[in-house]
Amino acid sequence: MKKTSMLAAAVAVSIAVPAFAQTYPTKPITMVVPFAAGGPTDIIARIVAEPMSRTLGRQIVIENVAGAGGTTGITRASVAAPDGYTIMMGHMGTHGAAPALYLKLKYDPARDFAPVGLAAETPIIIVASKTHPANDLKEFIAWARAEGDKANHAHAGVGSVSHSTGILLDSILGTRPTLIPYTGTGPALNDMMSGQVDYMTDQIVNLVSQINAGTIKAFAIATRVRSAALPGLPTTREAGLDNYEVSAWNAIFAPKGTPPEIVAVLNDALVKALDDPDARKRLDELGAVVPDATGRTPAALQKLVESEVARWKTVLTQATATAKP
Ligand code: ASP
Repeated sequence: MKKTSMLAAAVAVSIAVPAFAQTYPTKPITMVVPFAAGGPTDIIARIVAEPMSRTLGRQIVIENVAGAGGTTGITRASVAAPDGYTIMMGHMGTHGAAPALYLKLKYDPARDFAPVGLAAETPIIIVASKTHPANDLKEFIAWARAEGDKANHAHAGVGSVSHSTGILLDSILGTRPTLIPYTGTGPALNDMMSGQVDYMTDQIVNLVSQINAGTIKAFAIATRVRSAALPGLPTTREAGLDNYEVSAWNAIFAPKGTPPEIVAVLNDALVKALDDPDARKRLDELGAVVPDATGRTPAALQKLVESEVARWKTVLTQATATAKP
């Protein structure tokens, strides 16, 4: 008798999980992008949200909530109902560098989220306005050192990828430019194209079209090997700067407490999106590096967040000792 009721309970449980998963989602899902539309995080979010929506049978609606280097949108999304209807595209800044730069950050990247999965890694490129006097990285370095605080360095807010990788570059070069914050590197790029700011370090996906169109100058990509998306662009090492190698990443998170069954549904949709031929082609063309199967799990993302928070704490403690805040 006992055996039968245990069996009944086991059957009920094994039916309950897939049935629950099948009922989610029943309405549109909001994906918070913590920067202005048109920038790198927004670009990646829109590329993966489209095939994810198809898999889920419900629309993923992108909501741009910009401010404070991405921490405004992530703070807001972190306290949303953990029901799978609010998710977010976080990145190396919001979930890696920010804790090192905000003493009163309202979330803990390693504790306050249910990681869904890594979407893409994005190499960093040093870019400048088309009218910039330098024609290569060595000339750029000489210019930045000579210019001092007359040099204008754009970024997407304290703790963002462009800010943290940018002040790292400035600290390596020993320069102290004037830092100009934007709500995202989409608007920063627009101002750079019209010559209002001099340079920035940004994620490749935001830059490939403009570099190819010649509307901005690119000096080097901060990776060990060149990108197939920009084969003519030298690495920092090739261009004469040995110690500046840095890459960002963008990943989907849900608020802490989101049921694992829902996280599994979202992860499955993300994994399928990364294998979707159109999405993949677009990501490849823009130079994003798509993770392999082992890098796409929630557990792999949790590990990445923990190691990035530790790494950027060390890196930025050193960098902020020389760079301006
Ligand atoms: N994610 C970019 C950054 O951190 C900004 C953006 O996506 O617009 O610099």
